[in-house]
Amino acid sequence: MPHADAGLARSRALRLAWPIGVAVVGVVAGYLLSIGLSGYFVFLAVSAVTAAIAILGLGIVTGSAGMIALCQLTFAAVGAWVVSLFNVLEVPGGFVVWLIAGGLAAGVVGILVGLPALRLRGVNLAVVTLGFAAAFDVTLLQIQFPGSKDGIPVLRPEGFSTDRGYFFFSIIVLAVCGLVVFWLQRGRWGSSWKAVAFSERGTASVGQSVQQAKLTAFAVSAALGGISGGLLAGQVQLPFASSFTPLQSLALYVLAVMSGAYLIDMAIFGGILWVLVPELLKRWGVPQDWGFVIFGALGVQALTSGTNLGQGIRNLWWKRADRRAAAAREAAKADAAAHPAVVEPPVEASVPTLPTSAPRPASGEPALSVTGLTVRFGALKALDEVSLEVPAGSVMGLIGPNGAGKSTFVDAISGFLPQASGAVRLGGTTLGRMSPTKRARLGLRRTFQQDRVPPALTVDAYVRFVARRRVTAEEVAEVLDFFGCPPARTRLAGVDVGTRRLVEVAANVLARPRVLLLDEPAAGLSHEEHLELGARLREVPARYGMAIVLIEHDLDLVRTVCSTLTVLDFGRVLASGPQDEVLADPAVIKAYMGETEML
Ligand code: ADP
Ligand code: MG
Repeated sequence: MPHADAGLARSRALRLAWPIGVAVVGVVAGYLLSIGLSGYFVFLAVSAVTAAIAILGLGIVTGSAGMIALCQLTFAAVGAWVVSLFNVLEVPGGFVVWLIAGGLAAGVVGILVGLPALRLRGVNLAVVTLGFAAAFDVTLLQIQFPGSKDGIPVLRPEGFSTDRGYFFFSIIVLAVCGLVVFWLQRGRWGSSWKAVAFSERGTASVGQSVQQAKLTAFAVSAALGGISGGLLAGQVQLPFASSFTPLQSLALYVLAVMSGAYLIDMAIFGGILWVLVPELLKRWGVPQDWGFVIFGALGVQALTSGTNLGQGIRNLWWKRADRRAAAAREAAKADAAAHPAVVEPPVEASVPTLPTSAPRPASGEPALSVTGLTVRFGALKALDEVSLEVPAGSVMGLIGPNGAGKSTFVDAISGFLPQASGAVRLGGTTLGRMSPTKRARLGLRRTFQQDRVPPALTVDAYVRFVARRRVTAEEVAEVLDFFGCPPARTRLAGVDVGTRRLVEVAANVLARPRVLLLDEPAAGLSHEEHLELGARLREVPARYGMAIVLIEHDLDLVRTVCSTLTVLDFGRVLASGPQDEVLADPAVIKAYMGETEML
């Protein structure tokens, strides 16, 4: 299909080119502004640019990764301090090198400040970061910026030393920062930030280290803060501690939350507001500190309404786009119904037919073997000496009434219950006390009974994030098509929860684990979709090469999809083995007498 390949290559090139195009247009507009604006406004414009870069950084830690950090201007102070120091020491390379060094130094400090974030959340993390900001503020007043006592001004980059020139320079820095953030947001780190904001367990379960996701968010965010501070040092040439107070960090945070600073355009808008509001207040003869009150009120509004300005605007746009897409799908369906002979249904999309014979278990080394697994929640024994084996290349059904311990079993196997005792072997490896992340990387994957699919991602970004290996667009499209998921470009926020969980299954299958544990994957699907999923899962071991443990309530489905079966009841194994034998077991029949849900 050379034609399709050319189209794919073109769309890839376009995806790469358009952000660069936007950045270039921004730089050109900045150049025109630098010529056109009056002197005073040029100075204000540089302040807006530095604020925009700081807010861009805040957007990563607070917007994407969902943590509260109230010390962004402290990172800026670190950047400004390093630039001042390098200026005094006359470090070779000039301003650009000093600026980068300031960003890197702030990034390192960001990691140190981010360390408590590995244990703390919400208000506690906010207090720690604000405390750090206050402590640094006091220190800064003591040590001052290098060169400030002797009045040594920071040397601006060559060719950009006038205010107009420096404004143009700051626009270039903003464009570069914007591009870097754009690509980071769309890459693995960006996905990990959005995943960790939604669910830490969900993040760990796909083999992504939660610590790494949080620390990279802090590092990138702080580095941008450092660059912003470095730029400010070049702007004012003699920086003062009063530009970097905790109160200003607080106001900047509120502004970032209110505008939706994880969206690059909104970070720039926030930067403009940061300068514009106090300026307008000054013109109206109102003390500028009232600006903080205005930002605070807008922030409260954003927090209580649950959405921010940028997201609100985008939601309006997406609603229209979703409606258009739905209308197009309906039209295509109607068209297909009107001309059934013209549109040949693809093999994949044909109505699934479940074979009536039971699949036989494979022989050989088990993919997963569990011995004496016990889990206590206080006085309750949720799992009691559970032992079972999952044959390689098979689908094992795990059934039992609500509260039998099925989800607890999955949690314990995937490493989320450190109190679990017993032995779990994946292939030839004993898992012992291994973390969920490590287990996932070894080839043990699981899905969740509750929704843990981060809505901030597209289907494509999510599937690639979960797969944890290089996959081609064709591979992604194939697995999505196989499971009847929406196309790769779909936003996860725009689909229902049943579909999101189907995408979760498809993504984990694409990861090609050794064993995949599925905790009621069909919950939220219609009856037909449920049957279709069953038929697909039956094919997965042969097609993608893995063993599946399927928790499922529909016994008819279990009968046709699973070769082996384990029945749990009050945390104990009632029966385990080839499914026809298990279902014929008198103990099982007795336990399920009257369990209409099961029969
Ligand atoms: P199933 O998935 O089979 O419906 P679960 O594994 O969710 O059952 O639950 C098994 C038992 O363990 C239930 O009695 C449940 O109330 C209890 N349980 C599950 N998780 C916890 C927990 N985190 N703390 C206390 N009890 C729990
Ligand atoms: Mg459950």
